[in-house]
Amino acid sequence: MKAPLRLAARPCRLCGGALSALERMQGDVCHRLDCRRRATAQRREAARTADLARRQRTLARDLDAPAIAAAPVLWLQAYEARLVPLPAAARREQVAWLDALAAAPAELGAPAADSAPEPAIAGRVCAFCRGRCCALGAFRHGFVDRALLQRHADDAHGGDAAAAARDYAGHIPKTHVKGGCVYQGREGCVLPRTMRADVCNGFRCAPLVEAAQHAGSAAGVVVAMGMPATAPRAAWVHDAASHPLPRRPRRLPR
Ligand SMILES: [Zn+2]
Repeated sequence: MKAPLRLAARPCRLCGGALSALERMQGDVCHRLDCRRRATAQRREAARTADLARRQRTLARDLDAPAIAAAPVLWLQAYEARLVPLPAAARREQVAWLDALAAAPAELGAPAADSAPEPAIAGRVCAFCRGRCCALGAFRHGFVDRALLQRHADDAHGGDAAAAARDYAGHIPKTHVKGGCVYQGREGCVLPRTMRADVCNGFRCAPLVEAAQHAGSAAGVVVAMGMPATAPRAAWVHDAASHPLPRRPRRLPR
């Protein structure tokens, strides 16, 4: 008598639970919702990693720079910056805020806490992101407060706070990033660095800190951003330049 065909007993690779005969035939993950979700996420992650690696190799070939293929990948939180005309109400509110600051009693102009020049690679990472952190300035009047106004007044206007307020008002752009800071324009912050709040100059997200550690490296880093199910937006950045990773691998000429 022939022994019935039996698949070897195996546990689910995610939860360790016993797999049914059907589950064993279909793979190595059980049908529990949690395990199926995790398996899908892992598949997507693997596909995304492979897609990025392929695009890195394509750019390495296109630019004849093999180091690009080995550049570490830094993932940035997804952020979509869309330029829109600055609403008139937002402009009015910012101007009123600045006027009120100028009329308030002077606060000691805080000395600039952060004047160290950024490595170029850091600026390129911020340009790629387009300022997810800048959006935090939206409901805080661009982080302009009385002490900052006074600092600029002392630096540039002989202590005249009203003149400094007019300066801040004059920098309000016609278009800004939708939902973002009033000063978040097409090329990032429209304020000169010395007029920005310390929190704006000093804040560094984790990927930015990591990117700065690659300043001076020829290999640079790859920055990537996107939702799990889509091909990420990605670029290779180094001190001297920033190159978007090609969306689809091009065929090598034969
Ligand atoms: Zn399972």
